[in-house]
Amino acid sequence: MNDRVSGNGSAGLRGNGGESSLPLLIDPFDRRVSYLRVSVTDRCDFRCVYCMSESMTFLPKAEVLTLEELDRLCSAFVRRGVRKLRLTGGEPLVRRNIVWLIERLGRHLGDGTLEELTLTTNGSQLARFADDLYAAGVRRINVSIDTLDPEKFAEITRWGRLEQVLDGLAAADAAGLRIKINAVALRGVNDDELVDIVEWCGDRGYDLTFIEVMPLGEIGGDARLDQYLPLSMVRASLRRRFTLDESDYSTGGPARYTVCRETGGRVGFITPMTHNFCESCNRVRLTCTGTLYMCLGQEDAADLRAPLRESDDDALLMGAIDEAIGRKPKGHDFVIDRRRRGPAVSRHMSVTGG
Ligand code: SAM
Ligand code: SF4
Repeated sequence: MNDRVSGNGSAGLRGNGGESSLPLLIDPFDRRVSYLRVSVTDRCDFRCVYCMSESMTFLPKAEVLTLEELDRLCSAFVRRGVRKLRLTGGEPLVRRNIVWLIERLGRHLGDGTLEELTLTTNGSQLARFADDLYAAGVRRINVSIDTLDPEKFAEITRWGRLEQVLDGLAAADAAGLRIKINAVALRGVNDDELVDIVEWCGDRGYDLTFIEVMPLGEIGGDARLDQYLPLSMVRASLRRRFTLDESDYSTGGPARYTVCRETGGRVGFITPMTHNFCESCNRVRLTCTGTLYMCLGQEDAADLRAPLRESDDDALLMGAIDEAIGRKPKGHDFVIDRRRRGPAVSRHMSVTGG
């Protein structure tokens, strides 16, 4: 029996989540799409130097999906076998009434169709929302912190205050949320702190993932060239201090994990630039305007907002999703070098969501 949607978008037969006629999403390279990352807003209360330019133009409200539309879209993916939803942005927790959406999506956890509902956040609003997140079914969150130095933090985020984020982390801890810290490795900025960050996370029981700077969106000048620090170098410098044992732990995302023998904590590495992780890619990304990107590193995208708004019935939407998954490319080809000046992909990370 055919249990998949094939590369040309034809539907298979195997049921999913009790809806026997709805096929799973399988791309042309036989990868099952089970992970949807959703950017719920392009706005943010920070302006991180590698992510945004200082003066950003944000989307007009009419173009942005309502929370009800986001719920309908995400729920359609869940009905097609998506098991993990990650809300991101921009900063997801600055979207008005976001808790309503998180609670709505939480119903899929209750009925077992969704395995995990999670967020990537800058942590600035966690003190307000940590309890609500837990109550809605969120159990793990990723919080982005690139430095533990308040001044550097203000420089990197332009508008952020480290203390506010640390208060947010304390609230998340108290609420029972498991925390993973994301740190972008930045040459000349936090490369002298990497050991401290590993120890700080180990002491608090936080998992940690280092990320390479990716060439997404124009941020001005040669900033990324200057910032780019290959994680192979990060690993090498951490190995001078720690023993990092390879681990087969996976959160369903692209990070490769090690366990730090000295701290007992997990230390992961996301290496889109130096290591191609595309062959096991199980995810697609939805923007807050309903545009589906089948690959973070490619421009090709599918508009799901038009079919969503055209009819209250999901048939058109499901057709558009099938068509899009049938076009998921094999991989990306990011390059940061001096011959290629602009970003590999013109949209910012805050549009597609990290
Ligand atoms: N505002 C939230 C946050 O900062 O966690 C969620 C959105 S942010 C775009 C998601 C992640 O992408 C963050 O960990 C951020 O550090 C990372 N990021 C942003 N721009 C990046 C870039 N050009 N290269 C690599 N990582 C980037
Ligand atoms: Fe905002 Fe996150 Fe981008 Fe920083 S990385 S500007 S917090 S969206």
